[in-house]
This record gives sequence, structure tokens and C-alpha cells, in this order.
Amino acid sequence: MITIKTEDDFAKMRHAGQVVARILATLRAAAGPGVTLLELDRIAAQIIQEGDCTPNFLNYRGFPANTCLSVNQELVHGIPSKRSLQDGDILSVDAGAIHQGWHADAAVTFAIGDIPPEVRTLIEVTERALVVGIEHSTVGTRLGDLGHAISLVAEPQGYGVVREYTGHGIGRQMHEDPQVLNYGRPGKGMKLREGMAICIEPMFNMGSPETRVLDDGWTVVTADGSLCAHFEHTVAITADGPTVLTLP
Ligand code: MG
Repeated sequence: MITIKTEDDFAKMRHAGQVVARILATLRAAAGPGVTLLELDRIAAQIIQEGDCTPNFLNYRGFPANTCLSVNQELVHGIPSKRSLQDGDILSVDAGAIHQGWHADAAVTFAIGDIPPEVRTLIEVTERALVVGIEHSTVGTRLGDLGHAISLVAEPQGYGVVREYTGHGIGRQMHEDPQVLNYGRPGKGMKLREGMAICIEPMFNMGSPETRVLDDGWTVVTADGSLCAHFEHTVAITADGPTVLTLP
């Protein structure tokens, strides 16, 4: 079911979104060689609490942490652990928060220290795909066109566009209808309407698009072990165009 939000609803989602933005920026600054993923997750927990929010990832279907922290060939849903980051890693931070019952959700991928130029390109191109997705988040745009536009960004690089995990509607639930695919058929799919809120989250692999889940039941890795990147924002569809609710 598609839910339509009022301006007041968006304001609450924006409050949650500001807290999520603060988590992403703070963890990016704090992450470095020798820092453990658990340390980063504890910082996120504190920001959520201080920001008059509650966690949405914690205990979601039993997920044991406040953030998903995914390193290198881990794509999404990595569980924060005692693992220390190392120079040359890439880290995806996916974070969320709830304010007065309204959710926000965003993710960013960045380098720990020095990474090869081709990996930097992977991160830049995936982030660009998110920007393209946001630009297409206008009233009347079909989801098939939005997804197609995202996949076109990956195509010239030969990246695998992940199909098993997608963006989603968001509001009083973290995951609502519709599914927001990172690929699509032009002219197909439902039209975006004023008052909708969606999470757009391109996930590109340097190798094949296939993924698998580790034995922990959560961590999604690329099937071929290639590196991957993931970016996400929560976007409000308004008459005046897309409004990103998870920007500082
Ligand atoms: Mg999401």
C-alpha cells in the first residue's frame, strides 16, 4: 500500500533524516585504521538518543545493531563487530532513525585511507547514480524510468547492478511500498505522486551483480568477491520537486 504524507509528516521525517545525516558524517570522520565497527555503532546509538530519536535497525527482524556496516565485498546488512578497519578498506555505513513514529534511512560508502583509482571510480559512479535517481524523483515520473536511469549510470563502467536488494517507500514503516528498483523498463511502473517518500539506494558491484548471504544470516556479499558500493537517501516527492530528507 502506498502511503501519502502531509507536510507535518515530512517535517518529522526530516528531523529523523537530520539525525541520520549526523550519524553518516560523524562515522565518516571517526572511521580510520584501527577503529572497530562496534565503536562506530556505539557512536551512532548515542547520536540517535541525543537527537530525540529511536533506532529502527536495532531488533529489526532480530538485527543486533543500530547501523549496518559493510566492508569491501560486503554489500549491505553487515553486522558491526570487533573487526578493525584497515588502510585501503571501503566501508558502507547504512543508518536509520525514527522520530515520533516517522522513519528516515540513508547510506554512504567511503574509503579508509588510500584506495586504487578504479575503486574510487566505483564509489563516485554509485553516488552519481543516487543523484540521478533523486533528479528523477518528480511527480508523474514512472518508477521504470527512474530505475532505468540509475542502471544507465552503471552501464558504461560494466558494473553489476544488484537486483536482489532495492530501494523502497518509507514513512511510519522503514520499508513500505513501492519497491524502488535500480533498473527498470522505460515507460513502465507506477507514477510517483505528491506526498510519497522513497528511499533510493543504488548498489553497484565491480563484478557480477549476484550476491549471497553469509552464515550470520544478515551480511550480503558479492558472489564473486568483487568490491561494491551503496548510497542511499530518503526523498520526499513534492509539487516543487524532490526534497532530500537525509541531507544535513
Ligand atoms: Mg533503505
